[in-house]
Amino acid sequence: MQLSGWGRYPTTVAEIIEPVSQKSAQSHFLNNTQDSHIIARGSGRSYGDSALADHILNTRFLDNFISLDTAKNTVTCGSGVQLKDILNLVIPTGHFPPVLPGTKYITVGGAIAADIHGKNHHQAGSFCQHLVSLELLLASGEIVECSRSKKKDLFLATCGGMGLTGVILNATITLKKVTSASIDQKTQVASDLRECMDIFDESEESEYSVAWLDALAQGKKKGRSLVHVGNHSEKGLQQPILRRELSIPAITPTKLLNKYSIKLFNELLYQSQVIRQKSKKVSYEAYFFPLDGLKNWNLVYGSRGFIQYQFVVPMDCSLEAISIILKKISDAGKAPALSVLKKFVRGNDNYLSFPNAGYTLAMDFKRDATLLPLLDELDEIVLSYEGRQYLAKDARMSEQVFKKSYRNWEKFIAVKTKYDPKNIFASQQSRRLGLTN
Ligand SMILES: Cc1cc2nc3c(=O)[nH]c(=O)nc-3n(C[C@H](O)[C@H](O)[C@H](O)COP(=O)(O)OP(=O)(O)OC[C@H]3O[C@@H](n4cnc5c(N)ncnc54)[C@H](O)[C@@H]3O)c2cc1C
Repeated sequence: MQLSGWGRYPTTVAEIIEPVSQKSAQSHFLNNTQDSHIIARGSGRSYGDSALADHILNTRFLDNFISLDTAKNTVTCGSGVQLKDILNLVIPTGHFPPVLPGTKYITVGGAIAADIHGKNHHQAGSFCQHLVSLELLLASGEIVECSRSKKKDLFLATCGGMGLTGVILNATITLKKVTSASIDQKTQVASDLRECMDIFDESEESEYSVAWLDALAQGKKKGRSLVHVGNHSEKGLQQPILRRELSIPAITPTKLLNKYSIKLFNELLYQSQVIRQKSKKVSYEAYFFPLDGLKNWNLVYGSRGFIQYQFVVPMDCSLEAISIILKKISDAGKAPALSVLKKFVRGNDNYLSFPNAGYTLAMDFKRDATLLPLLDELDEIVLSYEGRQYLAKDARMSEQVFKKSYRNWEKFIAVKTKYDPKNIFASQQSRRLGLTN
């Protein structure tokens, strides 16, 4: 079967196994005599090739809930459970997932393997900081439990480890208690990047913050943005929203997405917010998942797909580094269709987790012949500021850039070798980055 990540680049032909239970997943490894490479796959919402390999284990049937403990504020479930299912289960009990990405369709396994971050990193850190424990299926077929106190080395390598230590079977996650699932959203208009970062600094007491950046604005307007700050409303939604999603027609002309249309869209969006109501109550769907309203929006970039370039640079040089990167993109005549800025407060101990104190910018680029050389140049700028790229979005970074920016890669390999000496778990990405053969 032909498969890709969310960016539709690269693609591969893979053999897929879909175990219907943890037991059948385990017997695959107990009976595996060929030592062929395999990687787990959740919803395939990582953008590049982290969930691609010749053999793929799809976790979609490992989607059972095991327990919801409203006294301890924890949920235990199979790794194939999607965050939307957790929302549906826990909102009526006054709980909420501790960290949410920009789509509710990812699985718990994918959230742990990428150690995802949300709009509340400045308060909550990343997903695995709320993970109590997990059960992992090793290449030997053995199932082990790990946590911060049990097999800590394996826990640190699995959180953010992009599926390379084994198949996460189930996990216990601490939930957040909330007054409602509605969000009091305040939108502030920043006329440039400095002002945008000032708003982030002033909003640290708020639970959530995110900025939509006009990456095409240059000169004095460089970095102008809309910063959406949010807190759970005192009163509001106590039930999940079951929203009808629209689909993009397969014949949508992708030429409509060009530098001029994106520039016009950004201008209209920015100007409309300058005059609109700035504080309002919105649903969690509207605040966290605006893109989920269009089911297959990734098709809009056409058959060559797109790349999301997401990097983090340290706090003290963020303004300078991001300004240089925005100029470089503009000088190259490129137009990122979507640009989102968030603030990270600190990193964690996991060997391959992405977040580090600083600002992270994610930009979507339609793929064409000139894109990859430009991204190579951006890599050098990011590296020169001691920044790094997010593995869940990566489709093309070189081994050299990866190893210079993820300083704990050797510690990761040591743990991987201990638990998976034959490198059974390997993806297209891990081979490209020199993490496996
Ligand atoms: C619209 C959109 C918005 C997004 N916004 C954010 C955001 O705000 N913050 C953020 O951090 N990320 C964001 N992401 C990225 C996404 O959260 C991650 O890529 C996540 O890992 C995807 O989960 P998945 O279930 O689709 O996993 P896949 O894409 O299927 O797999 C991703 C990785 O997880 C591994 N994996 C999956 N399941 C298991 C398992 N059971 N055991 C072991 N390894 C496993 C795979 O091997 C692979 O390495 C966004 C993605 C989209 C499409």
